[in-house]
Amino acid sequence: MARKPGFPAQLDLPGAAAKAARAAPASLPASTAIPQGLGLDSAAVRAHMVQKLARNGIRNAAVLHAMATVERHRFVDSALVTQAYEDISLPIGLGQTISKPSIVARMAELLLGAPAAQHGLGRVLEIGTGCGYQAAVLSMMAREVYSMERLRQLHEKARHNLRPLRLANVHLLFGDGMLGYAQGAPYAGILAAAGGQAVPQPWCDQLAVGGRLVAPMAVAGGQQVLLVLDKTAHGLQQTLLEPVHFVPLKSGIA
Ligand code: SAH
Repeated sequence: MARKPGFPAQLDLPGAAAKAARAAPASLPASTAIPQGLGLDSAAVRAHMVQKLARNGIRNAAVLHAMATVERHRFVDSALVTQAYEDISLPIGLGQTISKPSIVARMAELLLGAPAAQHGLGRVLEIGTGCGYQAAVLSMMAREVYSMERLRQLHEKARHNLRPLRLANVHLLFGDGMLGYAQGAPYAGILAAAGGQAVPQPWCDQLAVGGRLVAPMAVAGGQQVLLVLDKTAHGLQQTLLEPVHFVPLKSGIA
């Protein structure tokens, strides 16, 4: 008999992902708890952040809605809560960072621009769960989100952060994302939150035709830029965009 997944579902590798519930994109529970004693009205501060994102070029309504809904302050350490809505990356432990809101929104918008996403995103694979913030954002615009993390402590942290949100369509995986997650493939979108030297072959293989991969990638001169790969019936189409600064993509687990 199928086991009912916990929230968020945590799958063993190799696991029963194919059997994961096909849930509709989640709507998050209304904000209730606002950090006390910090003078932070979280909804208002978030609305301000979203206005700024819109001013700086984010157009997609689903992205702006997700950014206005997911409470970023819940994903950072309490000492950093007052900085949670500034457009900066913040430490989440083990030398890793939560990406700044503008890059989270930018990558989500690029994913939603995939040909296959015309009627909403289907399954998405995220490499680099970190604290789980981007997975929560993606859960509001994709049918299923598979998010992989290679550091067990961060995988657990994300699980802890996401549990109260009860997102039935987020599946956290502990494993090396460079191998992708074949059991959930093909993906309408693959998003990497860590930058490598080349696109691992499994990502190309696991991307659906009509799907899109968005990832930071090293280019000549040691610079890192955002890479968009569209998989068409005729092959892969590559677009290089603006410079970015992501933590390195590493192989293996720790
Ligand atoms: N999206 C995250 C950003 C986390 S930073 C957030 O919202 O917080 C990038 C993460 O990628 C780090 O936690 C790092 O450990 C992880 N990472 C790097 N290489 C990886 C790999 N091969 N597989 C899975 N995770 C990886």
